[in-house]
Amino acid sequence: MTTAEALQTATATLAAAGVDAPRVDAEWLLAHVLDCPRAELALRSKEPLTEAQQAEWDLLISRRAARIPLQHLLGTAVFCGLEMEVNRHVLVPRPETELLAEQAWGFAGGLLAPVILDFGTGSGCLAIVVAAHCPDARVMALDVSPEALTVARANAERHGVAAHIDFHEGDGREGLPGDEAFDLVLSNPPYIPTDDLPSLQTEVREHDPALALDGGADGLGFYRALAKLALPRLKPTGRLMLEVGDGQAEPVAALLAEAGWGECELLPDLNKVLRIMIASPANP
Ligand code: GLN
Repeated sequence: MTTAEALQTATATLAAAGVDAPRVDAEWLLAHVLDCPRAELALRSKEPLTEAQQAEWDLLISRRAARIPLQHLLGTAVFCGLEMEVNRHVLVPRPETELLAEQAWGFAGGLLAPVILDFGTGSGCLAIVVAAHCPDARVMALDVSPEALTVARANAERHGVAAHIDFHEGDGREGLPGDEAFDLVLSNPPYIPTDDLPSLQTEVREHDPALALDGGADGLGFYRALAKLALPRLKPTGRLMLEVGDGQAEPVAALLAEAGWGECELLPDLNKVLRIMIASPANP
């Protein structure tokens, strides 16, 4: 079978299995099997697959058809241009979270030796790209899952920022690590209401860790905790930057205001969903 034929039949198989972007996923998997950039596939369309490649390909396509996430099959996800190792212990980084990362390094990059907390670091993607953009920053990366911290540490090593990140294991709702004042607290916490978990896409429901998704009965549990815990720990000039779920910007703004926070800025994602919130400890 040529690579072009392999792509064609796999695209049909994945489409029939209900995969969102069957052609694109098939291309990523084929590039993985051929160990070449995806852009090179067109030049290799007439090349036959070897027996070993065919066997690997068949296995990958059947696993993707079973709705195992593409990134789990590749072993990596790209976040802000950096390749991050991912597995079932961490949330696969999402494109909308890149907006939070950009806001974070845009702010922290203007400060001298900023101290930053990434609350619920998961794969470490936010902590790592911010550390990579702000070389004099010190980042604390907190997560309740030791397995997630293992992934985050490996990713920090991979991108040469491990020396700038302190990893802490613990439930952030019970307290923030250390006693320093932060310039920036950022978080993409679990925010899906518990009752909505069963209706998520198969890839998310069965393969992203529930720990990284479940935001409690109304999905706002972590925002409530952060509203209380982060305020006394921020410098007066600091910022709290959050990703929120669809429809959560208003309730989160309300609970921040109630907890005594000042000005709050809301930024939309590419789908025009208010997705990023930037709160200041006090009004100017
Ligand atoms: N953005 C993820 C999703 O919609 C949820 C991540 C989270 O809870 N922080 O699947």
